[in-house]
Amino acid sequence: MKYADLHVHTHYSDSTFSPEEVISLAEEKGLAAIAICDHDSVDGIAPCRKAGVAKGIEVIPSIELTVEKPDAEIHILGYFIDWKKEWFLKKLKHLRAARIERLRKMVEKLEDAGVKVDAADILKSAGKGSVGRLHLARAMMETGKVKSFKEIFGKYIGFQKYCYVSNVRFTPKEAIGDILKLGGVPVLAHPGVMGRDEYIPELVEDGLRGIEVYHTDHGSRATKRYEEMARRLGLLVTGGSDCHGLGKGKVLLGGVRVPYDLVDKLRAESSKLKAQSR
Ligand code: AMP
Ligand code: ZN
Ligand code: FE
Ligand code: FE
Repeated sequence: MKYADLHVHTHYSDSTFSPEEVISLAEEKGLAAIAICDHDSVDGIAPCRKAGVAKGIEVIPSIELTVEKPDAEIHILGYFIDWKKEWFLKKLKHLRAARIERLRKMVEKLEDAGVKVDAADILKSAGKGSVGRLHLARAMMETGKVKSFKEIFGKYIGFQKYCYVSNVRFTPKEAIGDILKLGGVPVLAHPGVMGRDEYIPELVEDGLRGIEVYHTDHGSRATKRYEEMARRLGLLVTGGSDCHGLGKGKVLLGGVRVPYDLVDKLRAESSKLKAQSR
């Protein structure tokens, strides 16, 4: 039986792992395929592919975009995207530049809250990747002022907490629309983390094609609920670990995996979308 982990980050966003590290871990875990879903970046795809070819591991070109509702943070995954399109690369570049400004704003707010971190150091730790709250959280831990990620996100930089700054540049409909324009399959990431099931029907109206049913942060009840929802709404099912290297303490890669036939379903859907747009 072949398996895939359909939600993996690299150091081109907020994972601590390089493409080579991701691929050798995927090999160790016996995975046939992984989807590289960095936040606002596709830069990890080519190096992962290069490393993957040598080990016979398929790399599915993907993306993770963030959008918001007034009371919810929504992550949208795009699978099998045409990731070299100039207009999209330009958009991602803008998003990453805006992340730097956003980081500076969050650092200022944190200083007001009595947690002093250095924006330049954090930017250095992110290197060429999309800088994000996980980089910030690691720097916060080093100050010794905060004790856990739970405290960091629960009190300071979680969605709409005191030091949170949004980086959202588009609506859910636009993000889903962009993925469709790239011939990609738009999928709602970790709906259990979003915690607002009532938004799912409108996302489907906007063009959503799937739900990430299996995810590290989904317990058995959530998993069952989303399995049923996917069936009811006629959506594709995906799953992945959301591995961030050592970024979340534990290495998650391969901890959540799905049978390879779900990859074939995503590929078929993407082919259909690409044929339609031709
Ligand atoms: P960003 O793209 O900068 O908004 O950061 C998003 C990332 O922050 C997510 O992918 C998670 O890794 C992390 N994150 C967001 N909220 C939480 C939370 N409540 N607890 C732990 N990690 C979180
Ligand atoms: Zn992340
Ligand atoms: Fe996410
Ligand atoms: Fe993710």
